[in-house]
Amino acid sequence: FMFSSAMGQNKTLAHKLTKNETSIDYKVAKLLSEMTLEEKIGQMNQYNGFWNVTGPTPSSGDAAHKYEHLRKGYVGSMLNVRGVEEVRAVQKIAVEETRLGIPLIIGFDVIHGYETLSPIPLAEAASWDLEAIKKSAEIAALEASAAGINWTFAPMVDISRDARWGRVMEGAGEDTYLGSKIAIARVKGFQGEDLSKPNTIAACAKHWAGYGFTESGKDYNTVDVGTSTLNNIIFPPFKATVDAGVKTFMNSFNELNGIPATANAFLQRDILKEKWNFDGFVVSDWGSMAEMINHGYAENIKHAAELSVIAGSDMDMESYAYVNELANLVKEGKVDEGLINDAASRILKVKFELGLFDNPYKYCDEKREKEVIGSKEIHDAVLDVAKKSIVLLKNENNMLPLKKKGQKIAVIGTLANDKTSPLGSWRIAADDNTAVSVLEGLAEYPDNAITYAKGADLVLGEATFPFELEINTTDKSGFEEAKNAAKNADVVIMVLGEHGFQSGEARSRSEIGLPGVQQDLLEAVYAVNKNIVLVLNNGRPLTISWADAHIPAIVEGWQLGTQSGHAITQVLYGDYNPSGKLPMTFPRSVGQVPIYYNYKNTGRPAANEPNSVFWSHYIDESNTPLYAFGHGLSYTSFSYSNLKVKKISEQHVEVSVELKNTGKVKGKEVAQLYIRDLFASVTRPVKELKGFELVELEPNETKTLTFQLTEKELGFYDNNGDYVVESGDFKVFIGGSSVTVLEEKFKL
Ligand code: BGC
Repeated sequence: FMFSSAMGQNKTLAHKLTKNETSIDYKVAKLLSEMTLEEKIGQMNQYNGFWNVTGPTPSSGDAAHKYEHLRKGYVGSMLNVRGVEEVRAVQKIAVEETRLGIPLIIGFDVIHGYETLSPIPLAEAASWDLEAIKKSAEIAALEASAAGINWTFAPMVDISRDARWGRVMEGAGEDTYLGSKIAIARVKGFQGEDLSKPNTIAACAKHWAGYGFTESGKDYNTVDVGTSTLNNIIFPPFKATVDAGVKTFMNSFNELNGIPATANAFLQRDILKEKWNFDGFVVSDWGSMAEMINHGYAENIKHAAELSVIAGSDMDMESYAYVNELANLVKEGKVDEGLINDAASRILKVKFELGLFDNPYKYCDEKREKEVIGSKEIHDAVLDVAKKSIVLLKNENNMLPLKKKGQKIAVIGTLANDKTSPLGSWRIAADDNTAVSVLEGLAEYPDNAITYAKGADLVLGEATFPFELEINTTDKSGFEEAKNAAKNADVVIMVLGEHGFQSGEARSRSEIGLPGVQQDLLEAVYAVNKNIVLVLNNGRPLTISWADAHIPAIVEGWQLGTQSGHAITQVLYGDYNPSGKLPMTFPRSVGQVPIYYNYKNTGRPAANEPNSVFWSHYIDESNTPLYAFGHGLSYTSFSYSNLKVKKISEQHVEVSVELKNTGKVKGKEVAQLYIRDLFASVTRPVKELKGFELVELEPNETKTLTFQLTEKELGFYDNNGDYVVESGDFKVFIGGSSVTVLEEKFKL
């Protein structure tokens, strides 16, 4: 087969094809050789689904146009088509009506489940439980694949240090090391051992790259970051997904250092496809090719298509750039056909790997759809990970767990009675009112008397679409009822936080306290009864300094998905001992943002040293966070002792420490290991997570934990992007949060 060369020195997939006739590469090359230019470009075109495909075919407008393209073989993928009947209908057109019968790859945002929802990804990250996170992705793949879907636009592996950014709910938080481990778990969960099985789906690492560093936390905004941050903070989780075999990448809406990600050859060609040898394909973000006109980078849509394909964007999601412009660009000699061959080959390869050519309808099994979606197995799995995601932030005088009998409990807050918000953002296939509310969860413990008062609304009216939310509620008329309920109660449970659509895409906030009048409600109730357990439902870290100073018990209950209320109440009553740890720092005030544990020292002295008035700080706010990265309590307590560092070889040290359960009940602890390279050729953070272990211990039980620090953990990327391990002095720190309790020096 003949392939014209693409992009000079750049390796293309075509170059790597073999002559083994049973190999996928051979099959791809053979098929490609039979395709017209337009058919190849068709593979690179992804359309949003026309809802209700099984209804009458529209005769005009956008959908009619899309049908026409589908029939001609000018569509390689569709997104947002769901349910076996709908998927079968579009697949049938692709397979039976097009000249070559190439099946579609069916994409969907399976971000934290399909119809039965797991916790939002940020919440799951708080479990630090890689098995549970993998299982959650596996279950999501099981359910989505039963609905006809074979490709998810997940995991989002964008590191972010800015809680104003609404999409932090979709990621794994602020840390690269934890984020990389979680990224691997998610990819492996979605894709399984064997992608050709009908219960696994292709994963997509997104958004390549820099999206989480959006300026001022505003979604879609400019990103300007240096090489050190790119290489050490932003890239590693993406690299981890490539090593884990992720099949696809999605690029990003943002520009990175002046070049939109979609037309960024440095990202897509030099790093991803050249340096990392990624052999899957890159899909653009929704309309991101067309958005380059607004960015002021592409002159028009044709120019956008040219820039995108040259830079290595293989598939166009809804910009109509490739399908309308690419063929002409090739004919005019502006785009080398080798680039088209490369992109189409990458896409076809994934379709072969999914087994779609063997059986295009393998995901279209009505019987399986009925049995699998919403099955008990899936509900049990999402409940399990929901419990593991809860973080006990504060528990003064062991106020929690609650007594199971004889208590008068006042439950306050509209979120306590909300069956939708706990589903969080990205729940396209899940209906409203399908989550278990906290009130429903509490009803499982009938020996206490419950009085419920809403207190206040969170938003005005009903939000039917994420972007239509009105949040400026001022109505306090329900406060009296709430106070009356609280007055007579032994314990008050207040469920406060964010509406399910107050975080997510395009949901950046400039204030990140309790929205609406909830802070006032909290203070009003506190004035009549101080025995409050505050349960938070939210998609991002919140500034809750007042609550921390006054409220005795605070439980971070995130947006935990379908089984939310059961998970929360099992923790409140001690039927589950919480072990979650924050994957993202909670600031004291929004002015501290971006705030993160792995910051760097300045050249200035610390607070208590001479001349300290000129140290790096605010005159009106502390430098410390409200809750540190890695923080989370348990109903038992743990102690760390006997930290030892043993040098094994030049670039390998072994660290051991004893962990003891010093409390009265069985519990789990996430033991965390951090290091600091004390001086280096590029300045290093004051602490970096480099190991953790989730350990379960009986009361009084002690376990010795060992961690290996090898060149993988001890080095960093220099400003040329080269990985180096530098000899010299290091420190290792151990503890149950990033505020560690033991430390020891060592030398490399
Ligand atoms: C988001 C992506 C998502 C895509 C498809 C975009 O707006 O940025 O993360 O996968 O839409 O729904």
